[in-house]
Amino acid sequence: MKCPFCNSEETQVKDSRATHNNSMVRRRRHCNECKNKFSTVERIYFKELYVVKKSGIKKPFDHNKIRHSIQTATSKRNIPINELDKIVNDTVNQIESSNLKEISSKKIGEMLMQELLKLDLVSYVGFASVYKDFNPAEDFIKFIGAIK
Ligand SMILES: [Zn+2]
Repeated sequence: MKCPFCNSEETQVKDSRATHNNSMVRRRRHCNECKNKFSTVERIYFKELYVVKKSGIKKPFDHNKIRHSIQTATSKRNIPINELDKIVNDTVNQIESSNLKEISSKKIGEMLMQELLKLDLVSYVGFASVYKDFNPAEDFIKFIGAIK
């Protein structure tokens, strides 16, 4: 596994932890070169699935993108990593067990919004404002009104 900071391949696993009914393993890694720390996640891979973007382009489904968008939405909220893992894992399991061959990025966004809504309203609004691509301020105010 390459270090995301310096691209060195000299990294070491310091800790492995099974989570979520052992369906996932989180590994803590240290880079021998730059001494940075990062985590990787190993999970069961079910089958080939494509995400259809708004533009119509299809990309292989990648759970890391879900993780990334959740992390971005919650970055200032101090939410425990376990909670975020749970959202990612639940959503990915739901998608992969659905037997679909493709899913729209819109649908995935809606699923994540539902999960975030249960967890943290501020993160939910943050995610929704990016995802729904609010333009005029009044759209946003209308949207906030709708959640109340
Ligand atoms: Zn490094």
